[in-house]
Amino acid sequence: MSDRASAFVLKAASLELSSVGIQTARLDAEILLAHVLKCDRLALFSRDIELTDEQALDFKHCLTRRLRFEPVSYITGMQPFWSLDFKVNEHVLIPRPDTETLIEAVLKQRPQKPALQILDLGTGSGCILLSLLAELGDARGVGADMAGEAIKVAQENAVLNGLAERASFVQSDWFSNIKRPAAGFDIIVSNPPYIMSDDIAGLMPDVKDFEPKTALDGGMDGLGPYRVIILEATKFLSKGGLLAVEFGIGQAGDIAALFEQAGYFEITTYPDLNGIDRVISG
Ligand code: GLN
Repeated sequence: MSDRASAFVLKAASLELSSVGIQTARLDAEILLAHVLKCDRLALFSRDIELTDEQALDFKHCLTRRLRFEPVSYITGMQPFWSLDFKVNEHVLIPRPDTETLIEAVLKQRPQKPALQILDLGTGSGCILLSLLAELGDARGVGADMAGEAIKVAQENAVLNGLAERASFVQSDWFSNIKRPAAGFDIIVSNPPYIMSDDIAGLMPDVKDFEPKTALDGGMDGLGPYRVIILEATKFLSKGGLLAVEFGIGQAGDIAALFEQAGYFEITTYPDLNGIDRVISG
């Protein structure tokens, strides 16, 4: 077999990735090679492809980045989430499967009326807002983020997914720059940073060395952002409106208490695919 044949290249790359302790070595190698060859990952299995010099060099660069634990999604610049594909870079958190629980919860609990108005706080890549807009054809929404660089990415993702007409984005520190629509927002969603500041150092290198700290750090007890969001949202929600937030492992009780103190009712928690409570709504 030639050392430029895709099957050989894949095997060598996944061995190298495993040797530094990357658990998803084979999958990562496949995604990166498909990215370099501009083909579907499955196309790699239908026939052996001979890499050109340029492709071999490109792949080597991708592999070097991954060997330093840079997440695959930052290397390819894309991450699928729910039904769409999102552009990602170092200014935004990579959309996680856990967050799909939030989309499911909102779709289940949303107010039953047309043309819903949605607000997504800490929108990052825009993945939550845009996935909801794709599901709810007559809804409109605002994505807010304190990081201007994240707003740029979210705007690009709105265009990329044909949703720009129904989505707008504002730079805002939680509610600081948000204008309340006359009737309020029907849905407010957020996946805020919820990791305790002291726990950041113990995260995997892929996360702590590459993803934006501001998207991860929830302050001393990891609940700082929720105190603001849950209380302030009461002033921005429409009558019968829904607030739904994602949170970290073990935070369900504290966050349910914040919902209760702020006067929410029909407070419901939802488990993720691993059966761990991840989302709460009220
Ligand atoms: N809303 C984005 C997401 O869920 C970003 C969340 C964040 O940066 N904490 O992926």
